[in-house]
Amino acid sequence: MNAAIERRVLVVEDEPTIAESVAARLRAEGFVVELAGDGPAAVAAARRTPPDAVVLDVMLPGFDGLEVCRRLQAERPVPILMLTARDDENDMLVGLAVGADDYLTKPFSMRELAARVHALVRRATKTAAVDPGQDFLRVGDLEINRAERRVLRSGVEAQLTPTEFDLLLHLAERPRAVLPRERLLAEVWGWADASGTRTVDSHIKGLRRKLGADLIRTVHGVGYALEAPRC
Ligand code: CA
Repeated sequence: MNAAIERRVLVVEDEPTIAESVAARLRAEGFVVELAGDGPAAVAAARRTPPDAVVLDVMLPGFDGLEVCRRLQAERPVPILMLTARDDENDMLVGLAVGADDYLTKPFSMRELAARVHALVRRATKTAAVDPGQDFLRVGDLEINRAERRVLRSGVEAQLTPTEFDLLLHLAERPRAVLPRERLLAEVWGWADASGTRTVDSHIKGLRRKLGADLIRTVHGVGYALEAPRC
């Protein structure tokens, strides 16, 4: 395998100063960066050359980042880091609901941004390399194909975002074990601090919506556990 394999990041931001500094930092980190300044341009760019990750501002001309996120995830799931205004928690929650994997509130440090993008890309790359003997995981009526990143419940396939898939896999590999939200945040998202545990809650909500409310049990004040459903 080529060690210097290119990782492409699409940066979607209409404020030139922010766009340029984000691009410069990511290029310095070794990524190939493409810029888009509005919603339609972002969707077109991702279609032309599928990126390995997307840094996506919410407030954009054309249509906004939430709509970009919806369209990208509907076409080809890709890890997305959403940039939201500091005082707009609603954007963050809606963003996670429409398939963003992570978010940063403005203003953010370039160091933090780079760390988050590395974590997203690393996760996507790591999960792509799978031991062929370990492709299938079955827990009750839940069937997970790691290599193809497909999930079926009672034979019906669910369309999960990359992060929802990783989160489900994490829980399914340890059925019935209670996994603290902080641990899920660290292991699935690669974050060390617990300030983003609502991110975990939001993705759990997505999994329940797509796979059934009975699949994941909430252990109040602690975290979540996958219940092994009966076949
Ligand atoms: Ca903007």
